[in-house]
Formats: sequence, structure tokens, C-alpha cells
Amino acid sequence: MSDTSNGLGSYAESDHGARSNDPVIEADVIVVGAGPAGSATATHLARHGLRVSLLEKSRFPREKVCGDGLTPRGTRQLIRLGIDTSEAAGWLHNKGLRIYGGERPFQLEWPDLADFPRYGLVRPRADFDQLLARHAVAAGASLYELSNVVEPIIDSGSQRIVGVRTKDGRRFTAPMVVAADGNSTRLSLTMGLNRREDRPMGVAVRTYYASPRHRDDYLESWLELWEGKPGKSALLPGYGWIFGMGDGTCNVGLGILNTSAAFGKTDYKDLLKRWLQNTPQDWGFRGENMITPVRGAALPMGFNRQPHYGRGLLLVGDAGGMINPFNGEGIAYALESAEIAAAAMTEAHQRGPGSPAAERALESYPTRLKAELGGYYTLGRTFVKLIGHPRVMRVCTTYGLPRRTLMRFTLKLLANLTDAHDGDAMDKLINSLSRIAPAA
Ligand SMILES: Cc1cc2nc3c(=O)[nH]c(=O)nc-3n(C[C@H](O)[C@H](O)[C@H](O)COP(=O)(O)OP(=O)(O)OC[C@H]3O[C@@H](n4cnc5c(N)ncnc54)[C@H](O)[C@@H]3O)c2cc1C
Repeated sequence: MSDTSNGLGSYAESDHGARSNDPVIEADVIVVGAGPAGSATATHLARHGLRVSLLEKSRFPREKVCGDGLTPRGTRQLIRLGIDTSEAAGWLHNKGLRIYGGERPFQLEWPDLADFPRYGLVRPRADFDQLLARHAVAAGASLYELSNVVEPIIDSGSQRIVGVRTKDGRRFTAPMVVAADGNSTRLSLTMGLNRREDRPMGVAVRTYYASPRHRDDYLESWLELWEGKPGKSALLPGYGWIFGMGDGTCNVGLGILNTSAAFGKTDYKDLLKRWLQNTPQDWGFRGENMITPVRGAALPMGFNRQPHYGRGLLLVGDAGGMINPFNGEGIAYALESAEIAAAAMTEAHQRGPGSPAAERALESYPTRLKAELGGYYTLGRTFVKLIGHPRVMRVCTTYGLPRRTLMRFTLKLLANLTDAHDGDAMDKLINSLSRIAPAA
């Protein structure tokens, strides 16, 4: 082991030639994966004085396939982490959502709320994730890059996870372990936690184009993708986005839900091309302006992997299927689950790791997650089933889009942006629906 620095500040790095008799690295918590969920978990824990080993298989900066966009819900979490989200600090701010459903766009500002800031953000993930990892290190976490976790270390008596082993043979131990290793979450799988097939799942692809539309203070969402003239040509499956990156490029992509008949049977790259071919030539979304290959990944939604706590292991972010089924947003929920998980682990640490009282604190994590998001995600699952039928979306865009009040309500519902107390009538309705819906 050696301490070194690569722009992330002081961090511990393996020499990658570790032998099995190398010293075991002990901590209070091991966090596997330094995406938004892992780095945020590590930051919250380190701030409370816990010793954290944050293990990441790649080296920063590294690419992550994403739309790079945050609603005010994601912004709020970054502020709670103490991150400077000003434009001077390199963030591109947006003030609302532009929605295309059919021919004409419809623009709505983010709601004016007590519980959320009124701006969203855009930042490339390579940069964003490095910034969050650096933040965790600054808070006191030990980041181990190029540390690919291959298996859990299980205590033969209790059957609890008490550590992990990396591909190069190093061993890390701790009484609490966090799976923050994204949608493929090998750690959860090796602990026997498979994905729930009854939960929504999406696939999304994206690429970057050089485009004059790169400076846009609205996120843009396409509810319908037409191959030609809207209403007169083929309606393609899926939903699209165009997010200006402010650096001469746009992040452009589309997603499809597994409730759609086209899911798994479609060439997504071709679909993207067919949709974009139909956008105005001067936007620049043509082959010659494409600056990265089209890449895709899964969108695990609506708590599609559970339990979120068991046998010493907590699941945060995509590993726990936290993506919002209404809008495909994952970063905000990765950061929220991180904060809730860290609070439970801090409490458990204070009560004495391994004690029955500590166990009760850890068990509060899934309970709190369900209380915060369970009912809302149940509504989201119904929504996903409905919009799996293209005709339902057609009716919504034809009759709903022109009605501003209805669209303001829809934006609040889809982006999960309401005030918990003293909100307006829309907030009260959405909050009541989420409360009534059974959390599961
Ligand atoms: C095309 C696409 C577009 C999207 N657009 C948006 C968007 O605009 N806004 C939004 O909010 N969400 C978006 N999402 C969802 C968002 O990307 C995820 O929800 C978010 O990245 C989840 O964060 P995470 O930290 O849980 O996982 P990840 O970001 O996937 O991070 C997991 C980390 O774990 C590491 N890791 C994995 N396995 C191991 C291992 N064995 N050992 C050590 N480390 C490991 C990985 O290298 C990675 O750094 C999009 C997703 C896709 C696919």
C-alpha cells in the first residue's frame, strides 16, 4: 500500500500486486463503488467520524453512461452534501423542462417550493463523479481506486458479510458493507440478492453531438419520438432527451421501459438515429457531428432489488433499484438513499456494531426508504404500465399538453417535487396519493 495523490487529494492506493498475506485493511464501513451513491454515503459517514474504505474498480476521471442532467431534487442533495453548485464552480444551471409531445414544445419552470431549490444542473459524469469522490476524500474517507471487488467475506457463524476481497487479492474488513456498485451490483448478486422481475426496468442509450443548441437553460424531454411528421408517420417506441452541456455539445439519448412491446426487440442505436434524422438539420444531430459512440445501460427502477438491508449489507443507488419510474432520474435517489443509509449506519456504529440495538438501527434503513419513497414508487409502477401503451401517451399529449395547470401538476408528480408541509393543492394531492399507495 502507498499513499499518493492524483488530483483527488490524499488517498490510499493499492500497488495492485497484493498477495494474500498482505495486511487486512480494516474500517467501520466498506463502500463498494464510488459513483454518486457510494461517494455520498462515504461523505456522510466520514463526516460523522466513521472510518470508511471506499472501493472503486476504475480510476477517476472515468466515463459513466448517463444523461448528465439533474432536477432540483438532485440539486438539493448536492447542497446537503455541502457542494458548491454555482455556475462559477462549473455547473450549468437549468430553470425548467421543455416538453415535446407531438409538434410543439411546451415549457415549464421548476416549481417554486420551500423544500427544493428552483434550479436543476447539468455536468458531465466524468467530472461530476470525480468531484463527488474528491468530496468524500476531503471529508475523511479512504478511496481505493482500481479496486475491483469480486466477492464478499462471510462470517461462517453468523452468515453476515464482514468484508470483501478484491480481484488482486486484497482483503478489506468492516462490520457494515454497502453495495453502491451500480445496476450490475455483483456484490448483491454474490450475496444472493437477485433483481425482482415484477418491477419496472428500462434501457437507455446516449451519445454527444456537437450542436449549436449546447447552451440551453431548459432540460428537454421528448414524450413521443416520430420518424417523420408528428401524427402522420411512424411513432417510434421510447422517450428521448436533449440536454445542452454548455461546452459546444448536447447529450442526446432515449430510453425504453420493459412495459413497452418493443423492449428487448429493438436496435436502440438505430432508433436514436431514426428519431434524430427527423429533428431540424441545423440542430446538428447527424452522424458527422456525433463525437462519441452510442452507449447504453440498464435503468433499475422502483426498488427492483430488495431487501435493502440484510446480513450486514446495505444497498444504495442503482444497486437497490432506486431509479424513479416516472422519469428515469437516478442520481437524486442514489444521493438520497446514501444519506438515509449513512444515518442508519452512524446510529448503528454509536450503539456498538454487532449489538442487537445496532441491528435495529440498520433495519430502520429499508423502513425509512419505504416511508420516503415506497408509496410514490408504487404510483410510478402503475404509471409505467399505463404508458407502456403508446395510445395512452398519445391521448395524454393530445389532450394534456395544451393544459398548463394539468402540466404543472404532471411536472410536480413526475419529478417528485412537492413541499412536504404547507404545499399548494397539487402538492397535497400528490403527497396524499403517495401516502395512500402501499409501499412495497
Ligand atoms: C443512458 C442513461 C442516462 C441516464 N440519465 C440520467 C440523468 O440524466 N439523470 C439522472 O439522475 N440519472 C440518469 N441515469 C441514471 C443514473 O446514471 C444512475 O441512476 C446513477 O448513476 C446511479 O448511481 P450509483 O452510484 O448508484 O451507480 P453508478 O453511477 O453506476 O456507480 C457505480 C460505481 O461502482 C463501481 N463498481 C461497479 N462494480 C464494482 C466492483 N465490483 N468493485 C468496485 N467498484 C465497482 C463502478 O465503476 C461505478 O463507479 C441515466 C442512466 C442511463 C443508463
